[in-house]
Amino acid sequence: MKWVTTNGCEVYQTSGGRSNSYLIFDKGVSFLVDTSIKKSRKTLMGKLNKFLGEKELSYLILTHAHYDHFENVNIIKEKYRPKIVIQSSEGEILRQGNSLIPKGTNILTRIIAGVGRKLNRLSSYEKIFPDILVDDYYFLSPNCYLIHTPGHTKGSMSLIVDGEIALVGDAMFGVFSWSIFPPFADDVPTMIQSWEKLLKTGCKVFLPGHGTSNSRKILKKQLERHGLN
Ligand SMILES: [Zn+2]
Repeated sequence: MKWVTTNGCEVYQTSGGRSNSYLIFDKGVSFLVDTSIKKSRKTLMGKLNKFLGEKELSYLILTHAHYDHFENVNIIKEKYRPKIVIQSSEGEILRQGNSLIPKGTNILTRIIAGVGRKLNRLSSYEKIFPDILVDDYYFLSPNCYLIHTPGHTKGSMSLIVDGEIALVGDAMFGVFSWSIFPPFADDVPTMIQSWEKLLKTGCKVFLPGHGTSNSRKILKKQLERHGLN
């Protein structure tokens, strides 16, 4: 899949299935948003080889510190030398090699999260050392910036490309046509506020970490349904 904005920013999907990742070009600056899981490594590295070749990657952005988004970070860092970027409240989770399971948002996922939290103590991941810690906003290139969109996790953030396309991590899901509600989120009211924030960016397309793209129309509908006021 490929998207192009008015000012010529290009967005390519570089992995799908379990977790999405995206490669973005804004003039000479390149960003990879998330890295998916180990099982997707071959596909992801193949795409990076196709689009970057021998060139370096400017930034590797992690929307949040969950293992299904960060498992291929170190191999990419080694090969393409990007600066690793994450929101400041999740930097320590990466450095420790943790991946905390958020709360479930329905009966089934609450049970899964409860069991998962117990098992979580047994799992550990490769330690990752971020280069840039972001607070509320971070301008990366002429047409791209990061915004803090907490709720799924405390430090979740989104990349806004040319005011048209938002790469939102797990702030929304794209698995069902009728709902963008993630099955897991630490703080639902804060996540809904982040949806409002994302709507205000003016973006028309919202690319999630799981599933396919969400339109502005469904985001508005879901805000009406789950909105705070
Ligand atoms: Zn997540």
